[in-house]
Amino acid sequence: MIYDQILIRYGEISTKGKNRTFFVDKLRRNLKYVLNEYKNIKIRADRDRMYIQLNGEEWENIAGKLQKVFGIQSFSPVVKVSKDIEQVKEQALIIFQKLQASGKTFKVSTKRSDKEYPYDTNELNYLLGSHLLQNIDSLTVDVHHPDLELKVEVRKDAIYLTCEVIKGAGGMPVGSSGKAMLMLSGGIDSPVAGYLSMKRGLKLEAVHFYSPPFTSERSKQKVLDLGKKLAQVSGQFIIHIVPFTEIQQLIQEHVPENYTMTITRRMMLRITEEIRHRQEALAIVTGESLGQVASQTLESMFTINEVTNTPIIRPLVTMDKNDIIDVAREIDTLEISNRPYEDCCTVFTPAQPKTKPKRENAHKYEGYMDFEALIKKAVEGVETIIVNAGDSLEQSEFSDLF
Ligand code: ATP
Ligand code: MG
Repeated sequence: MIYDQILIRYGEISTKGKNRTFFVDKLRRNLKYVLNEYKNIKIRADRDRMYIQLNGEEWENIAGKLQKVFGIQSFSPVVKVSKDIEQVKEQALIIFQKLQASGKTFKVSTKRSDKEYPYDTNELNYLLGSHLLQNIDSLTVDVHHPDLELKVEVRKDAIYLTCEVIKGAGGMPVGSSGKAMLMLSGGIDSPVAGYLSMKRGLKLEAVHFYSPPFTSERSKQKVLDLGKKLAQVSGQFIIHIVPFTEIQQLIQEHVPENYTMTITRRMMLRITEEIRHRQEALAIVTGESLGQVASQTLESMFTINEVTNTPIIRPLVTMDKNDIIDVAREIDTLEISNRPYEDCCTVFTPAQPKTKPKRENAHKYEGYMDFEALIKKAVEGVETIIVNAGDSLEQSEFSDLF
């Protein structure tokens, strides 16, 4: 074992001035959730850096999880050394020996935030570089493309040594921008929309509309599996499953076929709005992309969006399908989304949905249904499931959460 800690460099957090403590604290909590299974580690935060003390855990195992957490610009497994220069030299040598540096090229790069340290960056590069050259056979310097780069961070409390820098996911810590409801279908787009909005610091709870027996238990499982992937970013993910069969059947009975899609979407949005209000979120996120399908023309959005004035965030609105698919592949949701089970919308999709639905017509057709009562019933029947980054599912009554 070469390293005893992981040093984390913040992303955009570091530009947030006064709010920095709030951002850092969010990141620390998110890390605690995500790294929950590593019982021995200790997380410590200061203004510019976070440290995970490994206490015997392998850093490589933790690295894969860290790479998914927003708010991290980069991280490195490090050895923490006292500021005694002899000890720094010795530790640098130990690292190089363990990395079997003989025959390789290297360079030393020092960063010094402790300006009172008696050696400046050039002196340190020189002192450590020459110590390594003297003690390791056929090691040579290459400042442009070295095999090994010894990075030295001189901080107030100690000096940190590493030969690895791993890129983080960037963005802002989940929760630092507030909470929103994600309308999560089993499709490709909405998990990607969820991921991108979490990247900007939103904490999400999902709402999924489910129409048994037209949609199967396996289509519900698909959504829970998508939730598990998203939980890898946030540590935990709450999914509200809305029973939607009765409403869809009523829409089929009372609404002309070419308007069923528009009315269905308006009902979904009203119910999501209700749940949003009860969960004290401030926005709704969808996977809509302009012009992709009939429900996503500007006219459709105009007519569907009428039922709420809550901000609707559409991270994919300007993205091409291929680019969305690339992100889905990257975040490992594509294969789950591609499972064939039907979603409640696909089952009831009309052959010729209206691509330019009018608000007046929507009002007229909704006049035939007592939708207030239906919405109330659907919201009361919500089943809330908490999905963790691991495999466990916790089920709770909706009312428990208030
Ligand atoms: P997706 O790939 O996310 O399913 P899509 O391309 O199939 O999107 P639509 O079916 O028009 O497009 O759905 C648009 C958006 O409406 C979805 O991205 C999602 O946010 C929401 N939505 C659709 N179906 C459901 C559902 N069953 N439950 C919750 N939200 C849904
Ligand atoms: Mg869909």
